[in-house]
Amino acid sequence: MNEPENELLAPGHRTCAGCGPAIAIRQMLRATGKNVVICEATGCMEVTSTAYPETSWKVPWIHVLFENVSSVASGVKEALIKQGKDDVKVIALAGDGGMVDIGFRALSGAMERGHDVLFLCYDNEAYMNTGVQRSGATPFGAATTTSPAGTEIAGKQEWKKNVPFIAVAHGLKYVATASIAYPEDFQAKIKKALSIKGPKYLHVHCPCPVGWGCDGAKTIKYAKAAVETGLWALYEIEEGKLKLNTKPSELKPAEEYLRGQRRFKHLKEEDIKKIEKHAKQRFDHLLELENSEISLLKVL
Ligand code: SF4
Repeated sequence: MNEPENELLAPGHRTCAGCGPAIAIRQMLRATGKNVVICEATGCMEVTSTAYPETSWKVPWIHVLFENVSSVASGVKEALIKQGKDDVKVIALAGDGGMVDIGFRALSGAMERGHDVLFLCYDNEAYMNTGVQRSGATPFGAATTTSPAGTEIAGKQEWKKNVPFIAVAHGLKYVATASIAYPEDFQAKIKKALSIKGPKYLHVHCPCPVGWGCDGAKTIKYAKAAVETGLWALYEIEEGKLKLNTKPSELKPAEEYLRGQRRFKHLKEEDIKKIEKHAKQRFDHLLELENSEISLLKVL
């Protein structure tokens, strides 16, 4: 299935070398197969994969504005149901800007209405396509063109927006996080999500060598280091019950992930300690939730 001619994202697209989102999309399509319609918001993967009159997509694909990919995906799914094509899966695909910021209102509405759509965010942690502006998913301390590191601030001063938990708060039965460094886990989650009726949300972490200022040959190394340091955690929340998919016996020092990325090069020792402490606390909270009998859906 993985021979180049069988890939559903054809080579020759215009992403930068080592582009994490391009890897995510290839992995995603290996899991979906052909019986799928992809609705994709404006963003890096849209711009680079569909320069008219060419396209890298070998499945039905529609370009949607930044703000309404979830609305369009809802409409596509309802139209397919009307035509008796219930078996065709629909994915609303967007980067973090198109999903968790500009497209958030449409995402929230579509999840609340309960459409049978997989909402999939490929999170490269900033608006890369338009020049590396900060998004709600940009991590604390990262320098972007709108959260520059200087004398006033040391990069972004807010923590990453927790959209998977916001999705749970919409009553979704399946919510998960993933990483391109763990393709089997990511693909299993896509298959599971698509087997469940109703709305589901998947958030995949993927490095952007250009926006992060790191070596494109080490994209997977950085994706893996994010998980090993606890700065990105892999989990599923099914029927409100959280399960961690990777549990390092001890989290690695945050420095192992942060160093080597230009967006973090201004960070001082105390900033790194603060980030490390936050990652540890967050991971401990996830462990507590995993060990809890309480379903998160019960508090809705
Ligand atoms: Fe990929 Fe980043 Fe280049 Fe966009 S800017 S194509 S996300 S590497």
